[in-house]
Amino acid sequence: MRQYFELYQDCSIVKGAKNILLFDVHFNKILDITDFYDIFFEDYYFPVDEDLSEVITFLIEEKFGTLTENVTSEKFRKKFKWRTPNKITEVIIEHKIKDDFDTAGAYKIIEELSTSFLQIRFLEFSLVRLNEILSLIEFSSIRTAEILLPYTDQSENIAVIEILEKNPRVKTVYFYNAPENRSVVDDDNLFTVIYYEKNIINPKYCGIIQEDYFLNDINNISKSKAVNNCLYGKLFISGNGDLKNCPSSQRIINNIDKASVSSLTQEISKEKERFITKDQIEVCKDCEYRYFCTDCRMYRENPENIFSKPLKCGYDPYKGIWEDWSTNPLKLKAIKYYELDNLN
Ligand code: SF4
Ligand code: SF4
Repeated sequence: MRQYFELYQDCSIVKGAKNILLFDVHFNKILDITDFYDIFFEDYYFPVDEDLSEVITFLIEEKFGTLTENVTSEKFRKKFKWRTPNKITEVIIEHKIKDDFDTAGAYKIIEELSTSFLQIRFLEFSLVRLNEILSLIEFSSIRTAEILLPYTDQSENIAVIEILEKNPRVKTVYFYNAPENRSVVDDDNLFTVIYYEKNIINPKYCGIIQEDYFLNDINNISKSKAVNNCLYGKLFISGNGDLKNCPSSQRIINNIDKASVSSLTQEISKEKERFITKDQIEVCKDCEYRYFCTDCRMYRENPENIFSKPLKCGYDPYKGIWEDWSTNPLKLKAIKYYELDNLN
């Protein structure tokens, strides 16, 4: 009987203009197969041949597939379908010492939305305020929370860390405007403290595309094929209560004090950017990284075109090379438009 090599069901091929990748969502691995992609039939199997023994041994050792005499029919191969019952899965909320909106009311809406991820950004430092806000999520359905605070002195930071590391929802604490960049990871308790020199709550720092931020897990890959992987499910509540898709968005959906869950879910369904997939974006649709990288619809190479490539990506999928996006002369006009030229 003829033998074939067949990719496991969790493994798929993604083709770019120049490079071709094989990814595995079970072991979260990516392999560049540009040099031997041609041996594949229908992007998931190929007949065994003596000349291919080295490639086959490597693919089997790396657990990308197995040998078989009966290749699975294409219709029985696993398909990725991304679905979520919640319109909002991720909320970013800003707090001052005294908010311009009804804080308890805002958290009631967050709870009614069944949000699973919450990022809390403190614009000013106050231990009392931190404790007040934490008390509002004590019995919440939120699974994961991140806290961003301005760096003060190290004794106050330590007091904050001691409070937050006992909170089962809080997984990451960021101190921005810190004197140095460093991180402290507690693997046993899945708790990380990150010190950033930059003021990372400035929205202009957002939207950078680089390989370090790629996610090759099943959620990001399947979400990227279905909706916008950054904006779908996201809601930002600014310090004055404005509701936006993300902190960099110019469009205000409503004010949290005037919003209800039903009006909010209707309004966000009208926002086109939330539904733009990587396969629809200029240049990205020809990029082998399109299901792994995050997207950014708020900073685009062409600000007039909502389908334009993310401005802060320096990758050229036609040449297969990365360059510094911020010095690319073709991007200068957009950099000026978004007033990013004075950022350090
Ligand atoms: S759309 Fe861009 S600016 Fe907005 S959250 Fe996503 S990456 Fe950041
Ligand atoms: S070209 Fe598009 S898909 Fe490719 S890395 Fe850049 S942003 Fe991501």
